Amino acid sequence: MRTRITLACTECKQRNYNTTKDKKTHPDRMETQKYCRFCKKHTLHKETK
Ligand SMILES: [Zn+2]
Repeated sequence: MRTRITLACTECKQRNYNTTKDKKTHPDRMETQKYCRFCKKHTLHKETK
């Protein structure tokens, strides 16, 4: 039941992470604080298609 998703930095719009999520625990679009190597800091990353 795991779905592949891409996490994109909300500041520079780079797609930094590919991961999977469980749609049962995260039915909505995920938002996570992650390190962006383009911004060189932790930024909010959002799920994209
Ligand atoms: Zn960034």
